[in-house]
Amino acid sequence: MSDHKKDDGIHCSFCGRTAHEVSSMVAGPDVYICDRCIHDAAGIVRNDLQAYAGDEDRPRKHERHLPPHKIKEALDQYVVGQDAAKKALSVAVYNHYKRVESSDFVYDYADVEIEKSNILLIGPTGTGKTLLARTLARVLDVPFSISDATALTEAGYVGEDVESILSHLLQAADFNVEQAEHGIIYIDEIDKVARKADNASITRDVSGEGVQQALLKILEGTTAGVPPKGGRKHPEQSLVNIDTRNILFICGGAFQGLSDIVARRVSRGTMGFLADHEPKINRRDAAMLRYVEPDDLLKFGLIPEMVGRLPVIATLDSLDDQALKTILTEPRNALVKEYQKLHALDGVKLQLDKDALDAIAERARARGTGARGLRAVMEEVMLDAMFELHKRSDVGVCRITARVVREKVQPIFEARKASA
Ligand code: ADP
Repeated sequence: MSDHKKDDGIHCSFCGRTAHEVSSMVAGPDVYICDRCIHDAAGIVRNDLQAYAGDEDRPRKHERHLPPHKIKEALDQYVVGQDAAKKALSVAVYNHYKRVESSDFVYDYADVEIEKSNILLIGPTGTGKTLLARTLARVLDVPFSISDATALTEAGYVGEDVESILSHLLQAADFNVEQAEHGIIYIDEIDKVARKADNASITRDVSGEGVQQALLKILEGTTAGVPPKGGRKHPEQSLVNIDTRNILFICGGAFQGLSDIVARRVSRGTMGFLADHEPKINRRDAAMLRYVEPDDLLKFGLIPEMVGRLPVIATLDSLDDQALKTILTEPRNALVKEYQKLHALDGVKLQLDKDALDAIAERARARGTGARGLRAVMEEVMLDAMFELHKRSDVGVCRITARVVREKVQPIFEARKASA
């Protein structure tokens, strides 16, 4: 086999193009194949391999092609509530990977810009933004990384280059560039790089607008030189090229104050439609965020190009006590299940009374950090209980009552039944 560049009179045996019409031609005994046909053929073979699910290295085709309702069902197993956000995410992700697959395998459309459906998640802290993004990556079996927008600065300033977020993904993909190029990146605290409305200074806004500017290209799709180990680029370092066209970016933030902006627009603009339809919504309520529009994000301080590159906006609700209790007990890796397993390893059955769960949810909500507070409260409660428990060797059941949570009394221990 040899590579014929521009030999006259040679035609691709598959598509008939001459050597002049293609970039390269590979010759076998009495046959030729051009680079375009090689690309198409490789796509077909790859497709087949994935369909047989024998390819361990890449996400299997059927997983990437889960229809939106299946994606939502999978999310339901881990994330409580947030139905609107789950739906928006499921559809966006389905469309995203459909486009990605088509760009992979259809040579004739290789030049067509794929419109990316990057996603913006807006909702109070601890309501499941990161969890949704992480779970999505798990369901689709693609590499996933989290970066914090506040750690980034534009090139040349102290802080991390925006390319570092691609290094994180590359590391999550075990340095497999092709896998990384189909991964998901969650950028947290995107609201913290908003332009300050009152920033009249003509010096550049290093932490805010500059970072947004730097993120634009990556979000849209570019080939970026990435230092494989992260950190700053420097001249002697070898860089890995990563094409970000097919990477799905999910940006998240609490956007404090945004609900006021929305409320102001809504009450001014549409003749108080809220008064008619949603009398219970209060201006400061997170539920106000449901009505968010791109204009509100501009007012908040995102630059127009940034808003344009985040076409899918999904909002998350704050979690009430009932949701917090469900989070404690229902998801596949719920905290209570985690602790029960831990105790089961010692042969102890852990029980939590219903009102103990109420008390834990109440205390967690008082912290104002959403479901994030649950783990802290649970750890506090269980610390003393476990300390006492392990002083004894005969405990079969450890029962947590509301008083254990509220008044820090000892759990009720029941002795292990003597085995026959
Ligand atoms: P944020 O919205 O600030 O990104 P996270 O997704 O990081 O919040 O949530 C913090 C923790 O709280 C998660 O690890 C998860 O255990 C729990 N959690 C938050 N929201 C939910 C939810 N809707 N369903 C289940 N667990 C949740």
